[in-house]
Amino acid sequence: MTFLHPDHLDSYTRDAFSWKTHNENCYLLSCTCAGQEFNLFESDLQSVLAECAGCQNRITVYDLENYPAAIKLQGAESFSPMVSQLERPSRILATFEYGPPEDDVVFDRNDITWCQIHALLADGSKILVFDDETC
Ligand SMILES: [Zn+2]
Repeated sequence: MTFLHPDHLDSYTRDAFSWKTHNENCYLLSCTCAGQEFNLFESDLQSVLAECAGCQNRITVYDLENYPAAIKLQGAESFSPMVSQLERPSRILATFEYGPPEDDVVFDRNDITWCQIHALLADGSKILVFDDETC
């Protein structure tokens, strides 16, 4: 299968099959320790990290530095707990959008145009905690 998410999420995603009805580029985060509960952090430069509740491994979920069409502001980056994540830790869904294919351009899975991050609550509902248009 193809993995339509940026390189930096390689080895941290499980195909979120049950959510695929609306978007096929939606992934459930999964740590290399098999943990699936994370605490989210966001930075003053629009980046998002997920810290595994089991082993404290930090996974980059969104970082403008990685996307060809995006421009990231220079300077030191400081992270703080994401306040919109109401339940901590929780399972996390990351969804990526891409622009329409262009005939003369080779597809680049880092060339995302949009990212949405949802937290899954204990009652099974999901809340949108991050929503950013890349370019
Ligand atoms: Zn872990």
